[in-house]
Amino acid sequence: MNRSLERFALLAGVIILLCSAQFGACLAGGPVALPVALLLSVGVTLLWAHFDLSSDRPWLPPLVCAGAVLLSVLLAEFSFRSDFAEWFSFLFAAAGSGLTMFVLLRSRVRCALCNRRLATQALSFKCPRCHMQVCDEACWSFEHRRCTLCLEQRVPVLPTGEKWWTRVAGPRSAYGRCQICLGSAEQVDLRICPHCRRPQCRECWDFNNGECQRCGTALPDLPASLTMTVVQTTENIEIHGA
Ligand SMILES: [Zn+2]
Ligand SMILES: [Zn+2]
Ligand SMILES: [Zn+2]
Ligand SMILES: [Zn+2]
Repeated sequence: MNRSLERFALLAGVIILLCSAQFGACLAGGPVALPVALLLSVGVTLLWAHFDLSSDRPWLPPLVCAGAVLLSVLLAEFSFRSDFAEWFSFLFAAAGSGLTMFVLLRSRVRCALCNRRLATQALSFKCPRCHMQVCDEACWSFEHRRCTLCLEQRVPVLPTGEKWWTRVAGPRSAYGRCQICLGSAEQVDLRICPHCRRPQCRECWDFNNGECQRCGTALPDLPASLTMTVVQTTENIEIHGA
């Protein structure tokens, strides 16, 4: 069974439950029906948001809640009793659901750079260099695997200590040229790729996310942030390997 179909079946079930509960509350009169409409619509909206059925249509839950409650009131009024106050139940339902939606939308995570709210189901990225969570639309460079600000400012990610470099790539090379920027051994700090033995300067290793331009092999013992970049805003799952 299709996953979205499953969710809609669940939602339909919840709405039917809402209708029957509201119908029951209407039989008890206005003082019961009004608060029940409010509480039920808040509950349904929270459930709705939890299953993310309406991230692009925030007006839908209040409309559906108000409609379902109005239907229940109509049935109750015509079949059993007449209580003028009950007619306002649908307003309570719309208000409860609308307010819940408003609070939920406002509490969404924002992109640290452009400040747009991240859609519930959309991917966002945690920059390995500045550790900010950014949107994939404007503030993430897929090619360079960093946020656009870090790309612009050339923010480094690899450790700067000589000890680390000697351990992962050996000591500074006294000859050769960087295979990316073509800097000579005198101009730049060249380190040999442990895999293909090509020289690459420290700045270019850093810019290339610790990978060799030629063979694509990454240096061992890279910072953990470099391997965890994809963040899904809903469940905050982090996927390894970008
Ligand atoms: Zn952004
Ligand atoms: Zn960044
Ligand atoms: Zn270089
Ligand atoms: Zn290599």
